[in-house]
Order: sequence, then structure tokens, then C-alpha cells
Amino acid sequence: MAKSPKAAAATTRRPTRKPRAASASAASAPPSADIEDLAVPASAAAAVRAGLLPWYDAHRRDLPWRFSAAPGREGKEERAYAVWVSEVMLQQTRVPVVVDYYSRWMARWPTVETLAAATQEEVNEMWAGLGYYRRARFLLEGAKQIAEKGEFPSTASTLRQVRGIGDYTAGAIASIAFNEVTPLVDGNVVRVLSRLFAIADNPKESSTVKRFWELAGQLVDPSRPGDFNQAMMELGATLCSKTKPGCSQCPVSSHCQALELSRENPSVGVTDYPRVVPKSKPRCDFAAVCVVEIAQCLEPDMADRRGKDNLFLMVKRPEQGLLAGLWEFPSVLVDESKTDLVNRRKEMDTYLKQLLGIDLKRTSDVILREDVGQHVHIFSHIRLTMNVELVILTVKDDVGRLCEKGQDNAELKLVDESSIDSMGLTSGIRKVYNMVKAFKMKKLPEQSPMPTRKRSRRQKQ
Ligand code: SF4
Repeated sequence: MAKSPKAAAATTRRPTRKPRAASASAASAPPSADIEDLAVPASAAAAVRAGLLPWYDAHRRDLPWRFSAAPGREGKEERAYAVWVSEVMLQQTRVPVVVDYYSRWMARWPTVETLAAATQEEVNEMWAGLGYYRRARFLLEGAKQIAEKGEFPSTASTLRQVRGIGDYTAGAIASIAFNEVTPLVDGNVVRVLSRLFAIADNPKESSTVKRFWELAGQLVDPSRPGDFNQAMMELGATLCSKTKPGCSQCPVSSHCQALELSRENPSVGVTDYPRVVPKSKPRCDFAAVCVVEIAQCLEPDMADRRGKDNLFLMVKRPEQGLLAGLWEFPSVLVDESKTDLVNRRKEMDTYLKQLLGIDLKRTSDVILREDVGQHVHIFSHIRLTMNVELVILTVKDDVGRLCEKGQDNAELKLVDESSIDSMGLTSGIRKVYNMVKAFKMKKLPEQSPMPTRKRSRRQKQ
């Protein structure tokens, strides 16, 4: 039997790893050896492949993007597109969710050329709920780039030149679709490598990341690179899980240094690897969000109680920055010290006036204006508290003129309830919309007439 990586690697590096103290958490696990000199002898790499590939053949999950490519260049490109779309989606969420998104995506855009002909808005609609919309934008831009060139790049280095394709996705497409002997490293692979080689160095540090790539490159199977890479990811996603690894069933357990250390010393656990690095605290932002509904009837008293015929005012976010190019309800960031209702309304009134030329006091009849509640949305680096209010109004001016560009050239549109249901809203904005819907169901009985501003004031007294 081939030598294990542990036995082989032990001859090539300093044995400076220390087990954690009994009470230490993974986050405080001691730094491991300097891994700069960590090399995998050919026999050890062969042993890992020999354990992993048969296990993958027998246990791999049947997923819609894991199909055998048809012979020839066309078949490979079809597989490349499938790998690309699925891998980008898998960076967002769990496999069962991706299966659903992937199937709908492929039914609509079965080839890179059909995707290239889509609009950003259509792509956003399809992507809605997956988050991190920049990835959807890059998919479309990348598809346009590939369609223009007339050929799918087939090596990791040429794939990296496509907009939005990074090292990981390039490695996945090149190895899985085009059989290039090239590695890939994602979170699952980092976990497996950290445990196989008991690497406790900060996995986020660039020097450690570099070494993970080198290790993955030494291990990748020369005849089945795509399957090997998928097997590493599959092991990390299933048996070698974050908190409950199934080491007793693991096909490479006899080569796993973390497992061996844990057997030698009960204070060491395989879950100490990789080291957990505390996330930096997200920035706290506060926003006033105003769901503006424009009642289409001329008489406020005649407006439908729950506003089924009302039009919602939507604003397109700038093409750069957070949630670039996506539609949202009018929103303004407010200072933390000004999140009270009075200050928020002041800020919102100024914004609406700038944006639409709507003066809530002079050029419109406000039928209803109510605070709806708060929704906190967590982005990777921002904790955004959205204070939501609902304004239902009629405008004295032509409704269509509202959508002429605002002062800062913001793009605007009015949409009805059925359109808003199918729009590609971010999950945060969708939650705001659902809050408003629930508020109206609870607070606005269907039969009684809509309170006019005067009635609203009286009711509050
Ligand atoms: S033995 Fe356990 S910790 Fe090691 S690679 Fe296998 S599942 Fe992961």
C-alpha cells in the first residue's frame, strides 16, 4: 500500500504542530507548522486518489449538472456552461436550492448564446433570492464575452480572462468540462486539505491560500482531474462536514493527520481544522424605506381599500456599488441618531421631492402614511436596519410624468401588484414588500372606505 501523506510529508517538514489545550476553541487553535515546505510525495498523492476516486464513483450525488458530455467540442462546451452556472450558484447557497434555480435557469437559457441575449433585468429576476447579484451580472457579462468570441475558453488561464470567472470557477470548468489537469480550491476543499494535513494556519491568509492551491495541484489526478476535484468537494460537502465529520466511513481516513492527532491526544479534534477565523464585525447602516403607492383613482375616497389597483414606485439603484442596477422602493440612508419617525420622514420627503418632484404637502394628496415596522438585512459586511413606512397618495400631476428622470438621473418606474410579484427583487426588498402587504391585510379592512388624510388625523385623535 502507498505511504500515507502524513508519513511521507513528515520527512519533508518541521513537526511543529501542537494540539490545542483541552478547553481551547477551534478559533484559538495554535498555528500549525510553517507549511511553506509542505510537499506531497507522488506515492502519497497516489494513495489519496486511490481512496477518493472509487468512493466518488460509488457515492456521488446525482445532480443535474453532472451529466456526461456528448462527444466533441460542442458537448464539452455544453458541459462547461452547466458547470459554470452551477458553480456560481453553489457559491451562493445549498445544493437542494441550487437544483431548483439551476433547472429553471437552464430551461430558459440552455446555452451560453441564449444567455448572452438576455437582459440584465431578466437575469436578475431569475436570480432573485440567491443574493450577491454581482455574480448574476458577471454571468451575463461573461456569456456576452464568450458568445462574441464564438468559443468557450477551455483552459484555466484563458477562462480567468472571462468577466467574473475567478481561480476556483476556472479550475472547475477547465478540469470538469475540458479535462485539464488543474486544481480547484473552495471552502470544502480547504476543510479536507486542512484535516488531511493538519494545517491550522489561518485559512484566509494569502500565504496559506497559496499553499492550499499548491497542495491541491499536487494531489489532482492526472487522468481524471475533473472527477478528482469533484470528489474533494463532495467529501467536504458530505462526510468531512464542518461539525460532524463521518471519519469512520471516510475513504481517506488512513491518510488523515487530523484524525491521527485526535487519536493520539483526546484534547485534539478533527474539527479544530481548519482554524476558525472570527469574522470582522459588519458595519451598521440605517435606512428610511418608503413604499410609495399611487392610487389611480381621482377621488381618494374611491381608492381601493387594499390598493389592488395602486401602482408602486420603484427606483433603480446606481450601476455601481451594493446591489448595483437592482430595483427597490425609495430609500435613503439616515444617521443612526436620526432614525426616529420625524427625522426619517423629513429625510424621505426631501428625497422624494428631489427624485420625483413630488411635494407630499403640495402636489399630492396623501391618503395614508403609516409606519410599518423594521426589517434588518444582513449583507456580508453590512447590517442594514430598514425602517419601513407606507405612503398611499394620489398625484395632481400626470402619473406618467413621475417616471421622468429624477434630479440625479435615477431610473424610475411604476409597477402594479402582479408585476411586482414577478420582479427580481432582492430578498431584503421582497421582505419589505411582504411586510407592507401583511400590514395592509391587518390594518385596512377590505370593505370600509380608505381613510382620507382628514379622516386619518381624526382617527388618531
Ligand atoms: S478522516 Fe475525517 S476529518 Fe479526515 S478527511 Fe476523512 S472525514 Fe475528514
